[in-house]
Amino acid sequence: MSGIALSIKGLKVNYGSIEALKGIDMNVKQGQIVAILGSNGAGKTTTLRKISGVLEASGGTLEFLGHDITKMQSNKIAKLGIIQSPEGRQVFRDLTVEENLMTGAYTVKSKKTIQTNFERVYHYFPVLKDRKSQIASTLSGGEQQMLAIGRALMGSPKLLLLDEPSLGLAPLIVKSIFEIIKEIREDGTTVLIVEQNALQTLKIADYAYVLEVGKITMEGSAEELSNNPQLIEAYLGGK
Ligand code: ATP
Repeated sequence: MSGIALSIKGLKVNYGSIEALKGIDMNVKQGQIVAILGSNGAGKTTTLRKISGVLEASGGTLEFLGHDITKMQSNKIAKLGIIQSPEGRQVFRDLTVEENLMTGAYTVKSKKTIQTNFERVYHYFPVLKDRKSQIASTLSGGEQQMLAIGRALMGSPKLLLLDEPSLGLAPLIVKSIFEIIKEIREDGTTVLIVEQNALQTLKIADYAYVLEVGKITMEGSAEELSNNPQLIEAYLGGK
């Protein structure tokens, strides 16, 4: 359980002349929920997009379970088990819930595994089972978020990447989605979560990094960070 699943060293990513990541080091331990916290434009989404292989690095290395993924293409990275649930939910609005979930299983060959993954998703999110024939655009915001996470789970992730799952949702819904994220970790899936909602995230995370304009400015166990005066001041509203 204490092995490192993902190791990032000196990662730099540029968009033209903008240095979005200025050399970051990060480890994600197997079986943990690791969080990247930070405000708008800090580089959180860029970090996730690089891990899932849709951006090129201009420096540094990424290693996942013994594989060098620094230059690997996104489809190969997905096959290794890194699956992202994107920001803003981004479900296929005109497809049903079940069809959306099926699109998440494109890397999975075995019908039996697909069936098991459906059962797993419906276990976490029973409302998706109730609405499996419903068109995704008719779901509430919270249900669409559940669907986006469910779709990622259909790909049998070893490392699940979550981009701002709390975005735009009411506090009660955020709480229940975060409870499920904890359960997903307890069932053995490693989770890397990007969030602006530091307070809620530190409640479920094991370890966290704070990213500010492309650099890591703080890191520590969720417990340490929850009690860190600087972090409380900057992100927890002076608790
Ligand atoms: P947010 O929560 O707003 O998505 P973030 O922490 O995820 O913030 P990123 O989206 O990673 O931040 O952005 C990091 C920096 O890179 C910002 O300065 C942003 O303006 C810039 N940036 C992001 N995407 C692009 C792009 N496609 N082209 C140019 N600049 C970009």
